[in-house]
Amino acid sequence: MNALTDSPRCPAMKTNGSAAPGSPSTAEPNSLLTRASSITRALDEVGDKWCLLVIQEVFWGINTFSGMLEATGVSRGVLSDRLKWLQGIGCLRKKTSGGRAGTYHLTRKSTELYASAMMAIAWERKYFRTPALDAVQLRHQRCGQVFTPEMRCRECNELVDGRDVRYTPGPGATRDSRIKKVRRRSSLSANKVPSQRSVYRNLVEIVGDRWTANVIALAFHGYARFDEFNRELPVATNILSGRLRFLEQHGVFGSRAYQQRPRRFEYYLTEKGWDLFPFFLTLLQWGDRWCDSDKRGAPMLLEHTHCNKPLFGVVVCDQCGEELEPFSVTISLE
Ligand SMILES: [Zn+2]
Ligand SMILES: [Zn+2]
Repeated sequence: MNALTDSPRCPAMKTNGSAAPGSPSTAEPNSLLTRASSITRALDEVGDKWCLLVIQEVFWGINTFSGMLEATGVSRGVLSDRLKWLQGIGCLRKKTSGGRAGTYHLTRKSTELYASAMMAIAWERKYFRTPALDAVQLRHQRCGQVFTPEMRCRECNELVDGRDVRYTPGPGATRDSRIKKVRRRSSLSANKVPSQRSVYRNLVEIVGDRWTANVIALAFHGYARFDEFNRELPVATNILSGRLRFLEQHGVFGSRAYQQRPRRFEYYLTEKGWDLFPFFLTLLQWGDRWCDSDKRGAPMLLEHTHCNKPLFGVVVCDQCGEELEPFSVTISLE
């Protein structure tokens, strides 16, 4: 399917826009009303650069404040802010004993982000080659093989490609009121993170900003033009154009002129951009499961056009085909 069609590939999403309850103009001063989406809900919870990096460290067993401070290189203020946030949403649990400083532990909710971490590593290794990254070896404990994680359709077992997906509104297709600014910002680049365990830092650098990630998610639905992005994501136009430029600079988007006077561009996902789809799908599936506080059900239903069945992406080992369970992988850094 071509992402450069004139209308987004999810017509229901587009036409329902202005008719949906609560148009952006009725939003609270510091909030933003956008179409309910499990991806944006997941991103609003854990999609921030430092949340992603902190969770990654906890996955590798780093669970003290000082350990995380050293690993991420972030300021104490930003780190304690994110740890508080992650505890508040049930992604970390703090244990204290005998007057010592507490340790932070994964919960069931955050453990299920394992699939996202696997797909993040797969993307990172495909597009970035550094000696540090090349030295990272993933071994599946079950089959004993060195492997690459991949995502397959649970129904037909084909590799998942974002171009083979059809979207329809689900039972939870409403609008979400989202807080515009929730956290302290840090200008530190994810590429400067000292931790050797930070094995998907380039992905975090690109995706770890909520508006940038939201723009990528919209592109998966076929949105291509500035006005289309802006209608769905009514943030300041300079913020949006900055994010589009950023994605183009990083090779996630390409652009081409669709009009000469005045010259206007539309954006499309490159192969590198489409290859982010499995990572986003893991977040969507996680959001469906963990970020549905109203219990309305999935805001969006996905169908795999390959088999015409509901799409659920399963992260598997490319050597034995088995699903990768949390902590079933040994990661060595040589
Ligand atoms: Zn399928
Ligand atoms: Zn295996």
